[in-house]
Amino acid sequence: MRIPMIAGNWKMNTTSAEAVALVKEMRPELDQIDNVDKVICPPFVSLAAVKELLKGSSIKLGAQNLYFEEKGAYTGEISPLMLAELCQLVIIGHSERRQYFNETVETADKKVKAALKAGLKPILCVGETLKENEAGKTEEVLTRQLSSPSARSYYLSGLTLAYEPIWAIGTGRAASGEQANQTIGFIRRHITRQCGREIAQSVRILYGGSVTAANIAEFINQPEIDGALVGGASLKANEFLSIVKQTSSFKRGK
Ligand code: PEP
Repeated sequence: MRIPMIAGNWKMNTTSAEAVALVKEMRPELDQIDNVDKVICPPFVSLAAVKELLKGSSIKLGAQNLYFEEKGAYTGEISPLMLAELCQLVIIGHSERRQYFNETVETADKKVKAALKAGLKPILCVGETLKENEAGKTEEVLTRQLSSPSARSYYLSGLTLAYEPIWAIGTGRAASGEQANQTIGFIRRHITRQCGREIAQSVRILYGGSVTAANIAEFINQPEIDGALVGGASLKANEFLSIVKQTSSFKRGK
């Protein structure tokens, strides 16, 4: 039985004061909701303050990126060891990292390895561009992004995948529930071929791309979809709470 996850990716939004205010607003209600792993991923600079606020809470804390070396002369970077003191999860390979910061399949793989070594649980993002989608290359792109020779150990260590079609991120143009379910079904079959059925059935795979309180039901109701990585809507307390609540009740009914 895969426990659903709703993870909020705050991206480069909120000052520390704003992050603290948002967490104070959401925590009491979020703490009441069970059957869902609730994760928030504020900017690096707010992690320490938010960690303090989340003492005793069931809400988990994640970072949005990391560097794969443990320490050294890498000005401006943040290491897995630094993050492991502050949070439990880390988003890796987000399409905005691939698009604006030249991250590749190889760097994402190094980051996943480094995160797990430090005891952080990665949320690895994969997905195709609009051009690739229209050219019928979605499966080819996903296969390449999920080709790590260490995949088996990643899944066994609790890596979560997020399928995020790039054309659906921040555009207001979400994939349909059926489309997302179909592609996530492809990913699960790929993992079955790679690592066997038992592992494939245990891997949590989220959908991400313009998820809101108004459309979460469409995704969470699909058998292959185990939750969502939420960008814009995770910055609004009422939206995020509604997404988490709906996920909790849908999965409970299954
Ligand atoms: C994201 O940042 O991973 C994302 C899916 O963003 P949005 O929900 O805003 O499309």
